[in-house]
Amino acid sequence: MTGDPIAYTYDAAEHCPACARARFGSDDHGFVPEDAEDSEGNGIGAVFGWDEIEPDRGLYCDTCGAEIVEALPYVVVENTPGYLPEDDDPGRFATLDEARVYASDRLSDLLDHLYEAHGLHEDSGGLPFRVVGSFAQGDDCVIVYDLTRTHDLGRVIDIVDTRAS
Ligand SMILES: [Zn+2]
Repeated sequence: MTGDPIAYTYDAAEHCPACARARFGSDDHGFVPEDAEDSEGNGIGAVFGWDEIEPDRGLYCDTCGAEIVEALPYVVVENTPGYLPEDDDPGRFATLDEARVYASDRLSDLLDHLYEAHGLHEDSGGLPFRVVGSFAQGDDCVIVYDLTRTHDLGRVIDIVDTRAS
């Protein structure tokens, strides 16, 4: 990662370096001149690669629409109903399809674990767990109950669109 700005802020929005240079010109180092002012008379801010970008929104140029940081609005969380997710750093994805693939992988891992825990093979009848929902059929949320445990709360794998909250 270089120390060059990945975007500039002016006119109350972010813009890519190319658009900023096209508008304000550039100094000897190729950066927007430090004394440049936007249409409201405010100075120009710089955004760097190490700055915190909201992952659900990403960063897009307000002038040309170029993608500076890809938005990753879909999060896959796995938890027990009624409890907070244990994973502080859940999988983040740009599209619902990518999130669904990841969620399906998490689900098969969970089912593999249950098969193993009960010493079962996939072809044995009378499975001791129940799966509610299907990512393959377009559900965003699947719950797995372990039927051998009397008060099992189940395990939820949920695809969340963080922009909706
Ligand atoms: Zn631009």
